[in-house]
Amino acid sequence: MMSKMLNVRELFPEGQLRFIAGPCAVESEEQIDAAASFLSSRGVKILRGGAYKPRTSPESFQGLAEKGLKILRKAADQYNMLVVTEVMDEENLDLVGEYTDIFQIGSRNCQNFSLLRAVGKLDKPVLIKRGFGNTVEEFYQASRYISKEGNDQIIMVERGIRTFEDSTRFTLDISAVPVLKEKVKYPVLVDPSHPAGKREYVPSLTYAAVGAGADGIMIEVHPEPERAMSDARQQVDFRTFEKIYGQAMKIREAMS
Ligand code: PEP
Ligand code: MN
Repeated sequence: MMSKMLNVRELFPEGQLRFIAGPCAVESEEQIDAAASFLSSRGVKILRGGAYKPRTSPESFQGLAEKGLKILRKAADQYNMLVVTEVMDEENLDLVGEYTDIFQIGSRNCQNFSLLRAVGKLDKPVLIKRGFGNTVEEFYQASRYISKEGNDQIIMVERGIRTFEDSTRFTLDISAVPVLKEKVKYPVLVDPSHPAGKREYVPSLTYAAVGAGADGIMIEVHPEPERAMSDARQQVDFRTFEKIYGQAMKIREAMS
């Protein structure tokens, strides 16, 4: 586990492109080992995966909880990666903090102000995802709830908003990238997976995000996407990830 406070600008340097990747949810040791082994070999340094999943239906897979956290930590240590995983409530903050390097605040908790204040008091970076019903200004103010408590190691992620459009799962608000970059000094990332809803759209949304100036991409990658226990339709396999990664890096290079 990390002892020195991580610096988000070192993780996502200005003018460069870095990926956070991994499955939607932690499902097994084998799944996470396969993902971490592959992703680290391609230069990805931050492993994602939910151990606590905010599912629409209470009957859906809710995550492996502490067992999932342990699996993530073990794989990250083995492959020299960092862990980002969601903390859904204050009750689990200490437990999640024992295993993760970066706290993830999910879209549904973007305006959970007591949770934001609580992570704001801790000494680990916070990755906050835009609430799908929040304006950019509301998202920005949410980040201020964290920084006001003293923690300014924040990563902001645009992940799509609800609009009248239903041909994709959410509408990726590409404009949020330049607007946020004007407002904050923090890295601004895009998650192309959740707005896409279907893996076929993930490459295009990634390239658009890079073109808009995103500092990083947070993407769902699964060794066997069709067998995933959550968000199966939008996760990409290793081969597709490799292609997306290569193309995205070329776009970033063309921009500098
Ligand atoms: C996730 O990234 O695991 C997730 C649940 O996404 P969101 O909070 O954006 O819906
Ligand atoms: Mn997901």
